Amino acid sequence: MREIDQFIDGHRVPGVGTASSEVFDPATGEVTARVRFGTAADVDAAVAAAARAFPSWAETPPLRRARVLFRFRDLIESHRESLAALITAEHGKVLEDARGEVTRGLEVVEYACGIPSLLMGRHADNVGGGIDNWQLRQPLGVMAGITPFNFPVMVPLWMAPIAIACGNSFVLKPSERDPSASLELAALFQEAGLPDGVLNVVQGDRVAVEALVEHPDVAALSFVGSTPVAEAVYAGGTRRGKRVQALGGAKNHLVVMPDADLAQAVDALIGAAYGSAGERCMAISVAVAVGDIGDRLVEALAVRARSLKIGDGRTAGVEMGPLVTAAHRDRVAAYIAQGVAEGARLVVDGRGLRVPGCENGFFLGGTLFDHVDASHRVYREEIFGPVLCVVRVPDLAAAVQLINAHPFGNGAACYTRDGGTARQFARTVQAGMVGINVPIPVPMAWQSFGGWKRSLFGDHHVYGEEGIRFCTRYKSIMQRWPDGGVAGPQFTMPTSG
Ligand code: NAD
Repeated sequence: MREIDQFIDGHRVPGVGTASSEVFDPATGEVTARVRFGTAADVDAAVAAAARAFPSWAETPPLRRARVLFRFRDLIESHRESLAALITAEHGKVLEDARGEVTRGLEVVEYACGIPSLLMGRHADNVGGGIDNWQLRQPLGVMAGITPFNFPVMVPLWMAPIAIACGNSFVLKPSERDPSASLELAALFQEAGLPDGVLNVVQGDRVAVEALVEHPDVAALSFVGSTPVAEAVYAGGTRRGKRVQALGGAKNHLVVMPDADLAQAVDALIGAAYGSAGERCMAISVAVAVGDIGDRLVEALAVRARSLKIGDGRTAGVEMGPLVTAAHRDRVAAYIAQGVAEGARLVVDGRGLRVPGCENGFFLGGTLFDHVDASHRVYREEIFGPVLCVVRVPDLAAAVQLINAHPFGNGAACYTRDGGTARQFARTVQAGMVGINVPIPVPMAWQSFGGWKRSLFGDHHVYGEEGIRFCTRYKSIMQRWPDGGVAGPQFTMPTSG
């Protein structure tokens, strides 16, 4: 059985712990590897390596740090296929989607290659009495990243390239469900010339995460995962004086106005609800049908949900792969039963799907509920599977009110042909990322990603400008040369006057 290692101080090392878990091929249900969970001792070793590497990496000129990132960028591009294959093998998403994941991660590396200019400060000349004033952004020290199963390449690449470009060292704790890609990223960083210890990978579960949260030498934590864990990591980290950004779960709504292009809205909903089997934090899980469009919308969605091509993500033409584990598939199926019990109308039932040749895979068909309301659990909670709920409302105001009352606020989208409606929606909806006739509005690498409300704990979104701010400390410097000085002590507040 293949054992999945850790990566500490430039070397692959086995975890010292005894706890471990199996890694599956979700399309076949076969166990393909075993990952041994890191302990507090593994976390200590990784943080110590990162702390040793930090001073000289922080002193390395940004231009030279950028050259490592340029080489890393090229290596990701040349390994795009093998990285995508690794994602599909352990996550299950279709290969083309996995390629897209690698590309979105690559774009963050490309952004980080611009670090010399991104770190530039501003200079104010002659602010008074021969004094000039300017600002620096300096690295924090050892940063840690804790990532979810659903983007095993992209989410680590949201974090590590920015942290490292800013001069920090980094400890990554990937999901135990698809941990292999993290080691490939570490190997590519090493091949690109990153000094040993600047990037380390510790495998594991809660034990390793808690050790990172508690470790006195970890200055900052980036977390992406479910809301209860995000909230705990945020509380635990900030209590210890760490800087924390913790991105949590979601329930993203897509509003279909009566004037929308129905065919476009249906395409958007099918792709955004069932792509990656709904295991995306930006998946659309609620369609809000406004006015009289509900019957036509549900009818069109039902036809498409029933005809989804579901199978092994490596097979050409497949649109939706399996869920990540049997336990997660069963959890999603339990939500479907709950929705029926609560009185939502089950229009398409994905349970019991058999995929020929993949009988032991973790599959579930596309599922569609109609007449869902805000009291149903299938509406209130994140299901994280291929389940789309349709809620009917009379007008735009009711749609926005519904979304704003939901505890999550990651993404929200509106399909309409009317500019005033679009503007009103974008300005008033309480979500961190908004799409107008765009179902999954994931910001580009030079902007920043993050939600509102219980979808993000902390002050900064990830990557882009917000990412640079999160990974650096602001310092203001005032300087006067001795010949510009004033004689004698000053006992009054210095001013420019
Ligand atoms: P998860 O919360 O179960 O796990 C995330 C990470 O935390 C993993 O590394 C895991 O090992 C660790 N972990 C799990 N339980 C823990 C615990 N009790 N204490 C400490 N650490 C723990 O999330 P997941 O199932 O891997 O990923 C799916 C979730 O992530 C969904 O809720 C999804 O919405 C969310 N997500 C959010 C974003 C975003 O940007 N907001 C992006 C991707 C995924």
